[in-house]
Amino acid sequence: MKLYEFQAKTVFAQGGIPVPRGEVVQNPEDAARVAEQLGRVVVKAQVHVGGRGKAGGIKLANTPAEARAYAEGMLGKPLKGFTVSYALVEEALDIAAEYYLGITVDRNSEKVIVMLSSMGGVDIEEVAASTPEKIARLHVDPAWGVWDYQLLDLVDRAELDKRVARDIAGVIRKLHNVFVSCDASLAEINPLVVTGDGKVVAADGKFDVDDNALFRQKELLKYREVSEADPIEAEAARLGVAYVRLDGDIGVIGNGAGLVMTTLDILSRNGGKAANFCDLGGGARAETVRQDLELVLKNPNVRGVLFNIFGGIVRCDEVARGIIEATRTMDIKVPIVIRLSGTRAAEGRELLKDTNLIPADTAQEAARRIIELAR
Ligand code: GDP
Ligand code: MN
Repeated sequence: MKLYEFQAKTVFAQGGIPVPRGEVVQNPEDAARVAEQLGRVVVKAQVHVGGRGKAGGIKLANTPAEARAYAEGMLGKPLKGFTVSYALVEEALDIAAEYYLGITVDRNSEKVIVMLSSMGGVDIEEVAASTPEKIARLHVDPAWGVWDYQLLDLVDRAELDKRVARDIAGVIRKLHNVFVSCDASLAEINPLVVTGDGKVVAADGKFDVDDNALFRQKELLKYREVSEADPIEAEAARLGVAYVRLDGDIGVIGNGAGLVMTTLDILSRNGGKAANFCDLGGGARAETVRQDLELVLKNPNVRGVLFNIFGGIVRCDEVARGIIEATRTMDIKVPIVIRLSGTRAAEGRELLKDTNLIPADTAQEAARRIIELAR
C-alpha cells in the first residue's frame, strides 16, 4: 500500500521527524486560504509516483491568488497517468542543501538497508547508476536495530554538512523507527532539506506499507486508497476480492494467483486479451463464484468468461456445482468456457453437460475456445 506524500508526512511527524507546515486541500479556494496563513507556499500535486517536479506537479506560489491558480491547474487533472484529487500546500522552504534518505528491505542480505546521499532532490536512480559511490549504505540487522555509532559513521561516509550531522542521524533513527513499527517496505525522504538557518526538514515523503502486515496496522488502514477511477475495483476492495482490471475483452477467473497469471499468458499467446481477472482463492462455494463472476461481468468490455480451475484440495465437481448454481440465477449474455483439471475433473465436466456452460480439457483449448466465441 502506497501512501500519498501528505499521509507519509503525517506518519513522519508522528514519529518526530520535522516536516514543513502545510495542509492538504481538494479545491482551489482552500489552497488560497492556506497560502493566506502561510505566506509563500509550494503547491504539490498528490500522486503515487515521484518526479512530479519535472512533470509540473510542484509549483512555487508567491501569493494566495497564485496558489489558487496552481491548485486549479492540478486538481482533477491528470499527472503522470493519475488524476490529481489532492494538493498539498506547504510553506516554501529556504533550501540550502538537498539530501537523499531512504530505507527499504534488502532481500539479499536479509537486512534493512539505509541509504543516504548528499545528491538529494534529483533522481536517485540516476545517482545510483552514474555515481554509485555517492550513496552511503548501512545494513541494519533487524535483531539489533541501529546503533548511534553506525548512524554517525553513515552520515560521515555520506559527506554531508558536518554541522547538521547529529540532526540527520536523529532523523534517520526516527525514520527507522517508523519504518519498523509501521511494517513499511519503503520509507524515503527526497529531498531531506537543510534550510538556510540550519534546520533539517523532510520536504518530500514516500512511504509504502507491506500489504501483508495491514491486519496489524489498523491505524494505517484509513490510508487505503479505494480507487475512485474504477468503481468495480473499489467494490472488489470492499468485498476483499482479488480483482484486477485490464484492457482486453475476456474475463478470467481462476483459483490461485499462479494459475490466474498463467491463464493470462496462455490467453495472450493465443491472440486474446483479458478484460480483467479474479482469483477465487482456495474455496469455491457458489456464493464466492457468484460474487466473482458478477464483478467480472460488470465490466462492459467483457465478451466472454474463462474459468480455469485446478482441483487440488478443492474438488472440481464442487466448483462446477458452484458455477452452475451461481449462473442459474444470473442473466448472463456472454459465453462461459470452463477448464477443469485435477481432483474429480471428469465428474465436474459431466455436470456441465446439461448447461450452456462450455467445458474444456486443457487451458490451451479453453483459451482458443473463448477467444473464438468472444469474437
Ligand atoms: P518530486 O519531484 O515528486 O520528488 O517532488 P519533491 O517534493 O521532491 O519536489 C521536487 C523539488 O522541488 C525538490 O527537490 C526541490 O528542489 C524543489 N523545491 C523548491 N522549493 C521547494 C519547497 O519549498 N518545498 C519543497 N518540498 N520542494 C521545493
Ligand atoms: Mn522528491
